[in-house]
Amino acid sequence: MKVPETQYRSFIEQYDGPVKKNERLSAYTTFRTGGEADLFIDVTDADQLSRVVILARRMELPFFIIGGGSNLLVSDAGYRGLIIRNSIRRLEVKDTDLFAGAGESLDETVDFSTTRSLTGLEFAAGIWGTVGGAIYGNAGAFGSQIGAVLKYAELVDPDGNIRIEQNRYFQFSYRHSILKETDETIVYACLQMVSGDREAIRKRTEEIRQLRTHKHPTTPCSAGCFFKNIEDSSQPNGKLAAGKLLDEVGAKDMRVGGAAVFGEHANIIINTGQATSKDIRQLADILKEKVKKKFGIELTEEIRCLGEF
Ligand SMILES: Cc1cc2nc3c(=O)[nH]c(=O)nc-3n(C[C@H](O)[C@H](O)[C@H](O)COP(=O)(O)OP(=O)(O)OC[C@H]3O[C@@H](n4cnc5c(N)ncnc54)[C@H](O)[C@@H]3O)c2cc1C
Repeated sequence: MKVPETQYRSFIEQYDGPVKKNERLSAYTTFRTGGEADLFIDVTDADQLSRVVILARRMELPFFIIGGGSNLLVSDAGYRGLIIRNSIRRLEVKDTDLFAGAGESLDETVDFSTTRSLTGLEFAAGIWGTVGGAIYGNAGAFGSQIGAVLKYAELVDPDGNIRIEQNRYFQFSYRHSILKETDETIVYACLQMVSGDREAIRKRTEEIRQLRTHKHPTTPCSAGCFFKNIEDSSQPNGKLAAGKLLDEVGAKDMRVGGAAVFGEHANIIINTGQATSKDIRQLADILKEKVKKKFGIELTEEIRCLGEF
């Protein structure tokens, strides 16, 4: 929906910091696709985030928070409203509590915890994106997820209020947190770590990074797994891999325009160079349709689509 230019102008006049106009979002997504955001602000602390949210709400300006853009498919038409990039940085240890700003890279947070001989985050080695994005989607791998190590987090609600919530508030489940319903934004996380042997932690994170390089693209061209695995109690770990179903419908041979399925993993769609978000969306829809037809199963997206498709 189009936002009147006057609304943008008065937001810019009333906001006390830099605002970018017509910012290309392909530079901020790991798919490297997506059109322009009408307005774009980088926030670096909780007060600034709260002020931006309060002003946007008061002016009825649609807004959306991004972190590393590694789980997002942004429309080629871009986003009508304000994109707020969470760039809040902080890495600090007190006893065995690790404090990480929501805008910190998750992978760098793993390295930071390794140098401090803290164990608990090794599973996240090599996962793209930020700490805030990881909490939003309860990012995980190798049987662990961030919800298992989060002690509490500071957040900003859609009215701009800043508060702290303990782990249970987030109602973590498979690739889910309450943030998907409340539209609150993480400011920083306190992660509950355990003292360990630095060399053993380093060895494990490197093993995990190595394992990932065989199954995932190593350059920005995807958003990781496109679809969620399917809850299925008859499976050994309670999940039926979407990638397995996709393999069986011949996904790896499929492409639309510049979008193709990754050769090493049928649940990953890649931008081979010139893909548009429309190509990616169309390929995903074809894959969904094929799985529905062959298995009667409706795949649901793990990634988030933003804007009009
Ligand atoms: C090659 C590759 C491999 C991947 N492997 C995995 C994997 O093994 N496991 C896994 O779980 N994921 C994986 N992913 C997906 C992705 O890395 C994670 O989902 C990641 O946690 C997303 O973080 P982000 O900062 O990039 O979020 P974004 O993509 O920027 O945003 C995703 C969602 O999070 C919300 N969000 C972002 N920041 C905040 C915040 N501070 N507060 C509240 N909400 C916020 C956004 O509004 C949006 O709805 C992979 C991605 C790639 C590209």
